[in-house]
Amino acid sequence: MMNLNQETMQEVVAEAFDRTESLRWQMAITRAAQELESNPFMHYDGHAVIILRESNEIYSANGTCQCKAFEFGKPCWHRAAARLITRYNERSSH
Ligand SMILES: [Zn+2]
Repeated sequence: MMNLNQETMQEVVAEAFDRTESLRWQMAITRAAQELESNPFMHYDGHAVIILRESNEIYSANGTCQCKAFEFGKPCWHRAAARLITRYNERSSH
């Protein structure tokens, strides 16, 4: 689980949500926000969000991902999480 300022993250999530009109991306963003809050098997290495899955697969998401959704050109919450963290860090460093 990542140690994030919930207030800042909520602002970042709301902004990301407003920036897309894609329902799939909005769903991915919602899921990403939930996972960032509660998933103990993910962390940020300064470049990508690393997600360890039950199947022992590891997803490393920034602009790309290793999951099926990405393979089929669909939005995935892994990449949404990576974008959220990037924006969160930008905001936190100002
Ligand atoms: Zn993915």
